[in-house]
Amino acid sequence: MNYQNTLAFAKQLDKEDSLSYLRDKFHIPKDKNGKDWLYFTGNSLGLQPKSTKQYINQELEDWANLGVEGHFEARNPWLNYHELLTEKMAKIVGAKPIETVVMNTLTTNLHLLMVSFYRPTKTKYKIVIESDAFPSDRYAVQSQLKFHGFSENDVIEWKPRAGEELLHIEDLETIVSEQGDEIALLLIGGVNYYTGQFLDLKQIAKIGHSKNCVVGIDLAHGAGNIQPNLHDSGVDFAAWCTYKYLNSGPGSLSGVFVHEKHAKNRDLPRFAGWWNHNKATRFNMRKPFDVMEGAEGWQLSNPPILSMAAIKASLDLFEEVGMDALREKSEKLTGYFEFLINQIDSKDIKIITPKNPKERGCQLSIQVKNADKSLHQKLTANHIITDWREPDVIRCAPTPMYNTFEDVYRIVEFLSLALSKVKGTHAEV
Ligand SMILES: *Cc1c(COP(=O)(O)O)cnc(C)c1O
Repeated sequence: MNYQNTLAFAKQLDKEDSLSYLRDKFHIPKDKNGKDWLYFTGNSLGLQPKSTKQYINQELEDWANLGVEGHFEARNPWLNYHELLTEKMAKIVGAKPIETVVMNTLTTNLHLLMVSFYRPTKTKYKIVIESDAFPSDRYAVQSQLKFHGFSENDVIEWKPRAGEELLHIEDLETIVSEQGDEIALLLIGGVNYYTGQFLDLKQIAKIGHSKNCVVGIDLAHGAGNIQPNLHDSGVDFAAWCTYKYLNSGPGSLSGVFVHEKHAKNRDLPRFAGWWNHNKATRFNMRKPFDVMEGAEGWQLSNPPILSMAAIKASLDLFEEVGMDALREKSEKLTGYFEFLINQIDSKDIKIITPKNPKERGCQLSIQVKNADKSLHQKLTANHIITDWREPDVIRCAPTPMYNTFEDVYRIVEFLSLALSKVKGTHAEV
């Protein structure tokens, strides 16, 4: 692709973009003059589809008009509402419907899945995570270790090499080949939240399984961003939230994947509630527990319909567009973003995300030497919404759903100006 560093070229790319119509399906926050913010934090909280309100209103109306009868009589009966999400969600992560369910929130699900898939013995009990794992995942595995009577120091970290930011799969291979007999579980972020690195899930599964370790993936930064092909990857389980790239609202529910090979295993220890009991006899109330097959067999409670309505609104959009088309635009959009950043005439700026489009999603993590949080504050003051990670990284995620080529042109224009004024420290803009 021959990119050019001009506003006219960025606008031309938007004109040629067959998905540009999608932006109008979202509420884009605006400044007081009515100008759209430059929003690059779809990796943190995705923007609201305009259709969401209508989907939630429908459930509010049915609740108002039908009360408890809504479980059966609502336009989308609540009793089986979660089933309306399953197939669409499965497609987004490359799973089979039997492997997929939407329930609870992400960290809760990691724990529920570890109840079944982290089964330590006296000698095989350690857990491998990335050294830059998302804090919630780290706390979750540390608390699981302690819950089972081990120490939080029994976490093994898969680290970047000295002076580097990204992970090498060979280093995971070394950890597992040397210590695999002591390792019970690998719990890895499929797309690292900090660097944006998209790891090879199939390879991770193969490495883990070579020493009989269970392999779980946190896909919070992957779902709706990259195509993880969960089924083919062979990982045992995965979980992700729906409020990042899946645009389903703050604190929204989580998706769960349990590989088909475990679907009929009734012997897996797990926690139970009425919602993972056989739905044919669920309301007989007095029957002994009879676990459901597949990922649904990890549900506990009847789910919050209002949150699921927001998820449905978003998944219907994903279904309409398809991940292939989104991914194709995403590679181009982030490619253009990368091109523009590399044009900035400053030694202080460096992209730490992998250069290979197959090893990243839409996010670029940009390290700005000598910067401090005030650079981020200046961006924010100008309604350029990015995410700051100490000590010196700005994370920007142009999403193919609602970001434009002009958006990435404008943010780089701003950064370039800011950095050209750097004299030893960051800029005055
Ligand atoms: C966003 C995120 C979380 C947040 O978990 P919640 O339980 O939804 O609050 C956890 N892990 C990762 C990797 C994330 O990116």
